[in-house]
Amino acid sequence: MKLDVLAIAAHPDDVELCCAGTLAALARSGKKVGVLDLTRGEMGTRGTPELRLDEARKAADILGLAVRENAGLPDCGLENTVPHREVIIRFIRRFRPDICFVNAPEDRHPDHRNAAQLTLDALFYSGITKLEVTGADPEPWRPRHILHFMQHWPFEPTFVFDITDTIRIKEKAIRAFASQFDAPEDDEGPQTYVSSKRFFEALRGRAREYGQQIGVDFGEPFLYYGGPVPLRSLDVLFSSRPER
Ligand SMILES: [Zn+2]
Repeated sequence: MKLDVLAIAAHPDDVELCCAGTLAALARSGKKVGVLDLTRGEMGTRGTPELRLDEARKAADILGLAVRENAGLPDCGLENTVPHREVIIRFIRRFRPDICFVNAPEDRHPDHRNAAQLTLDALFYSGITKLEVTGADPEPWRPRHILHFMQHWPFEPTFVFDITDTIRIKEKAIRAFASQFDAPEDDEGPQTYVSSKRFFEALRGRAREYGQQIGVDFGEPFLYYGGPVPLRSLDVLFSSRPER
């Protein structure tokens, strides 16, 4: 199946936290959107890999994804090596996405940084005609554009996507990972940095903050390193008025 968009991230729930509002908006507009989770999140303090797979499936339905796959690479063990790149290349040549969303190049969790570099290199090598990968389509493929989403460490975004119409869908998809987020007050499992109500509210606060920067209610920030963003219309400038 040819996809328009593929989001690739270290852990199941990374894309929900960082770019789910944008993915839901793209899916709603008719784009074929997929997610590739690189690991099963088996090192997570709460929940089990099986539970998180089930939660990832529920979140995929909520976001309107065409497909969601898990690469089965080791959580806390992502490495920019030939075997790990080849796993990703098999998916890239199969789904042939035009746009890829990937982890931020710098972040608190080493898996996020490693996933970003591993994925960038896999996307590049996937486009090399003579690179043969066992089990992969021999046709090379490289996406047109790569966007990094923001996770823990903030950065100065290249652009902010308006998710005012899809923030409810995003939050519903995050809540599908019930083992990880927004735990009830009387929950008996181990509390983590991400399981508290405060973390969930901080997520909405960040969406509010970046929305404010572009003059809308909620937004998701992205980094783009592909040079000048090619535009054929300035409609977006005529229809927006951020406070500056
Ligand atoms: Zn993560």
